[in-house]
Amino acid sequence: MRKFVAGNWKMNGLRDSLENIAELATAHARARIDIMICPPATLLSKACEINGSLKIGAQDCHSAEKGAHTGDIAAQMIADCGATAVILGHSERRENHSETDAMVRDKTIAAQSAGLTAVVCIGETLEQREKGETLNILKTQLEASIPDEVDPDLLVVAYEPVWAIGTGKIPTREQIAEAHAFCRSTLLERLGSSANNVPLLYGGSVKASNADEIFALQNVDGALVGGASLSPTDFSPIIHALEATV
Ligand code: PEP
Repeated sequence: MRKFVAGNWKMNGLRDSLENIAELATAHARARIDIMICPPATLLSKACEINGSLKIGAQDCHSAEKGAHTGDIAAQMIADCGATAVILGHSERRENHSETDAMVRDKTIAAQSAGLTAVVCIGETLEQREKGETLNILKTQLEASIPDEVDPDLLVVAYEPVWAIGTGKIPTREQIAEAHAFCRSTLLERLGSSANNVPLLYGGSVKASNADEIFALQNVDGALVGGASLSPTDFSPIIHALEATV
């Protein structure tokens, strides 16, 4: 499986930020890993016009093919821009837009039907971790957010502890390793050996200074990066750290 590092720009970036994508595309033209930027929807089309080996993804899609859903974007529209993936079930969507596992599952079906890779995000809150519920939460989210008919070749799972996103706090190596091993075995039970090819990303305050030790962990196949993906100066060393593992 190719290792995978994705940058989630969230609600950041105007047209001049496209230069950052161009800079990354040039700097990592011969990368031996998959690199993706998920800019806001307003930049998707232009970002896809930038030549290079960088992948471009969206940050959400609607589960319906088309219709009366003001402000929403269909998976086919994302594919039509030239993007190849979409982040689904990010904790900020789950929190700010009350997205449930069932909604994430329906979006995953829609994304894959449009030929997009679904980057499905799961992760526990601090309260859930402190109550010892982490693995149960991950199991429920994996079971309910990933549809039975999933195409494993178009699936990436991102383990993102909610309390580590944008906070500078990160789990211990043991906690990350435990969560990733659990996700792998749960996916293996569900999907069989094809689950070995589903990249498992860690997300939550990944920076140049901690990337090496996170990427050294078993079953960590890359990262979903928020804040540190906004500037090539911060993101490039993370890309290099992942590349150093292959
Ligand atoms: C994210 O948005 O998915 C994320 C992991 O953010 P950050 O890297 O800023 O914690």
